[in-house]
Amino acid sequence: MSGAHWPMADKKILIVGAGLGGLAAAACLLKAGFDVEVYEQAPMLAEVGAGIQMSANPMHVLRHLGLEDDVLRLGVQPGAYVFRLHDTGEVIQDFPLAAEHQRQHGAPYVQLHRADLHELLATAASKLKPDLIRLNQRATGFTETDDGVTLHFADGSSAEGDILVGADGLKSTIARQIVGEIPASYTGDGAWRITVPIERLPKPFLPQVMSVFMGPGGHAVCYYLRGGALLNFVGIIETELASEESWTQKFPWDMLKKDYEGWHPAIQTIIDAADHDQCYRWSLHNRPPVRNWSTKRATILGDAAHATLPYLAQGAAMAIEDGAVLARALRQKDDIAEALDLYQRNRVDRTARIVETSTQNRRLFHLPSEAAIRAEFSKRNEGESRNRWLYSYNPLTVELT
Ligand code: FAD
Repeated sequence: MSGAHWPMADKKILIVGAGLGGLAAAACLLKAGFDVEVYEQAPMLAEVGAGIQMSANPMHVLRHLGLEDDVLRLGVQPGAYVFRLHDTGEVIQDFPLAAEHQRQHGAPYVQLHRADLHELLATAASKLKPDLIRLNQRATGFTETDDGVTLHFADGSSAEGDILVGADGLKSTIARQIVGEIPASYTGDGAWRITVPIERLPKPFLPQVMSVFMGPGGHAVCYYLRGGALLNFVGIIETELASEESWTQKFPWDMLKKDYEGWHPAIQTIIDAADHDQCYRWSLHNRPPVRNWSTKRATILGDAAHATLPYLAQGAAMAIEDGAVLARALRQKDDIAEALDLYQRNRVDRTARIVETSTQNRRLFHLPSEAAIRAEFSKRNEGESRNRWLYSYNPLTVELT
């Protein structure tokens, strides 16, 4: 896009963090005509071996960035979202995805490997600016004046720009400076994560749908990745044993097996087929939504702004939406503070609603008895509700007010 004749064409934007949110924002901002630099603390770009779901709302952005074909090639479009009982597997409620999701929202619902999505975004953003990503740069804070913003790094160096975006995740340094300490409290849930190659599973096995098995004190989510070659299992279990919020923390396979004792045979098969030394468990924490994301020149996005529990599968989706809306807001205004305000104003309510709905889903997915599950689902229609407000949002076209 030619940037010659719009007010903020010459602005340089510094982004902290090359996660899914930072990279999507970088690509959206470069495509909108801004100059961007991304600073990442890690010595190399990497993502963990787990699945991620992209519904139509972020898929509009991935299409805008030219990634839809690759996402479809590397992912799986599940036929439906299916809620089942944890032991018998009886289907309690379901709603269609695949063609119906596409028909309703104009973009697909895709499940893919996080590492694949991360690499696609990094490649797309780096194509727009080859020296975009600076590794080994841990940001420690920023200073801003009327003339610009300076980002400071742990090695004593610094970078100058006009606008700063903190996309530095759950434990964001930039958010801490803008918002103050955001208190995190342990939810009481640990999230097991394993992936299993399908050659290790019997045929036929679980259908290519998004399966949620719901039981007392826990639930389990199963879906396929990489064209169906890999099965992704996320097992959420209530436990007093709070550990680190970390994707790389391994736990003994025996504990996983014990946590899912008595669950459906498909769950047993998946756990039995897992590599015993590759069982990861993440401790889930609650952080209240915050509403003051910005200073005159700095703002935050993704988990830094609205960390969420994964019970609606929308954390990365929100981060990707943020980048698209931020790029539009900065194109729409001729003043940085006004543009950041427009961005924040148009994002806080939606993201707070997603965070709160996700938190409420913990109760829904962990009801104490089969009778309670049946009673609760008889009063609600998850598909109708999500289609109405969650998946129908298009960050590229929603009116910014
Ligand atoms: P991150 O991915 O955490 O990236 C932050 C980056 O900033 C990292 O690269 C980090 O190294 C870097 N960084 C941090 N501090 C600094 C610093 N000081 N200086 C420089 N760099 C720094 N979301 C979905 O949309 N769909 C799903 O299906 C889904 N499933 C999930 C399942 C589970 C079990 C969990 C726990 C989460 C799930 N999520 C899902 C949520 C999603 O993973 C996150 O919301 C998303 O990854 C957030 O992206 P981000 O870019 O904001 O943060």
